[in-house]
Amino acid sequence: MEGRSRRIAIFGGTFDPFHNGHLRMALEVKEGLPLTDLFLVPSARPPHKPSRPMATAEDRFAMASAAVAGIEGISVLDIELRNEGPSYSLLTVLEVSEGNPGADLLFLIGADAFAEIATWHRYRDLLAACDFLLLPRPGVAPEMSFPPEIRIEPEGNRCYNLPGCSYRLPGGRRLLCPVLPVLDISSRSIREKVRGGRSLRGLVPSEVERHITDHGLYRGEERG
Ligand code: ATP
Repeated sequence: MEGRSRRIAIFGGTFDPFHNGHLRMALEVKEGLPLTDLFLVPSARPPHKPSRPMATAEDRFAMASAAVAGIEGISVLDIELRNEGPSYSLLTVLEVSEGNPGADLLFLIGADAFAEIATWHRYRDLLAACDFLLLPRPGVAPEMSFPPEIRIEPEGNRCYNLPGCSYRLPGGRRLLCPVLPVLDISSRSIREKVRGGRSLRGLVPSEVERHITDHGLYRGEERG
């Protein structure tokens, strides 16, 4: 991307734990766009989850870090672990923006999460702060996840090097909806497998599986 502005993606999540669905999405987006950097941002205190994460923020940060160690251009930021209070995405985007003047920022968001974005802290400011890329989830068509209170205008049918559709958000930012191969894996399904004594092979990176075993994570009953 020499001579052009840097394009940085922010992929926030609870990552409780980080799994192969997260990893494949990060890689597909990193290679398909192209991006200079993709930052994973584990949420310390996710405001939208019905219950607190099962694993500590430090364990979730360690698992995501181990999963992407050695992958060029993908790294984990501890912004939301360092900051006090709820982990609001707007504050994270503003902090990454301040640390990377002039960079184009792209916020990766799952279709299930985008469907609820109108409930997020200062969501209109967030939608105006950077471009967005919708990560498909099984059984959720992109347009089905557009919240009715947000006016989203169709724009084109490419997302850089990826097939898909692009839209304009109120305020002029872009919403990219690329076609990406989706793995039907969720953190909840991983936690259930651990509780049931089942294998995680193929569902999480081996480093994550080792961390879960070594630290005895997810053995207790789920809260909430
Ligand atoms: P849980 O099962 O605990 O709700 P999760 O698997 O959805 O968790 P999160 O940490 O909440 O994981 O996900 C972070 C982001 O990644 C969210 O925007 C979510 O929609 C997206 N995501 C999670 N799993 C996948 C997957 N298999 N494919 C694509 N996107 C995913």
